[in-house]
Amino acid sequence: MDVIEVRQLHKRYGTTTAVDDVSFTVGAGEVFGILGPNGAGKTTTVECLTGLRTPDRGVIRVLGLDPRRDRDELRQRVGVQLQESRLPDRQTVGEAMDLYRSFYRRPADGGRLLEMLGLAAKRDTQYRRLSGGQKQRLAIALALVGSPAVAVLDELTTGLDPQARRDTWDLVEHVRDSGVTVVLVTHFMDEAERLCDRLALIDSGRVAAIDTPAGLVARVGAQQRVRFRPSVPLDERLLTDLPEVADLRHHGEQVVVTGSGTVLQAVTSVLALHHVVAHDLRVEQASLDEAYITLTGRRTAR
Ligand code: ADP
Repeated sequence: MDVIEVRQLHKRYGTTTAVDDVSFTVGAGEVFGILGPNGAGKTTTVECLTGLRTPDRGVIRVLGLDPRRDRDELRQRVGVQLQESRLPDRQTVGEAMDLYRSFYRRPADGGRLLEMLGLAAKRDTQYRRLSGGQKQRLAIALALVGSPAVAVLDELTTGLDPQARRDTWDLVEHVRDSGVTVVLVTHFMDEAERLCDRLALIDSGRVAAIDTPAGLVARVGAQQRVRFRPSVPLDERLLTDLPEVADLRHHGEQVVVTGSGTVLQAVTSVLALHHVVAHDLRVEQASLDEAYITLTGRRTAR
């Protein structure tokens, strides 16, 4: 069942077209990514989803509800962590939690949520005293406090250090495992690749492609390169005869094989069969970065 359905969404601000005919669906339990550079229209799209903005045209259903007409009901069932959501400086973590719990019919156990987010010891700490990572975790906790069926998380790791980013990713996986459908807005390729089941690449208000991260990479016909040093001299034809292998070159003692997505398995199977050990085996894989650049025509999204 689709939890979210967006059809032909359009939104302009004056002469700026922010969202230009965007359509996608999100299934129950998915982590769905909306990926694109700054100004692509990602935030506008999720603001329309959550009823914070009115689209000019298009149909949106979230849990079967219309975000504008059924705004109050939707607010109970969709948790939102929007970019740069800030709390009053002197409000403590515990106070924020209690306040947000009061908004919901079926609030989650605030103590447990803080525990899960590693904030239990910060209950009495004022917002301004929290680190960037702790503020981000609190924002996620507050997005989950209504026990939502859907959580919308916008640019949740921007400005975090590498460790805090990783912790936040673990957390998103934890949220997904608890059965919540997640819409994740990001401009980071590594984040999208790690977390998203499927993603929409958005560029200049339009959907460039929707697929799994691996599907997007495969779509641009990306090849893999396998490098290794064989333990004994190798009859090249064993590898060049494989349908997966497109090219084989020697770089000194090193053999470099290029081929389609399953080339690694094909090469290692043949080597094993002939008792050849592949020393210093490395695989260079086409990344989502490359797929993104090809599909949107942009140099980079960082
Ligand atoms: P993203 O989240 O991908 O960075 P946004 O949805 O924030 O993109 O913005 C899409 C486009 O709409 C940008 O060109 C942005 O400058 C413009 N925009 C966003 N919000 C407003 C607004 N309130 N008024 C005018 N223009 C806006």
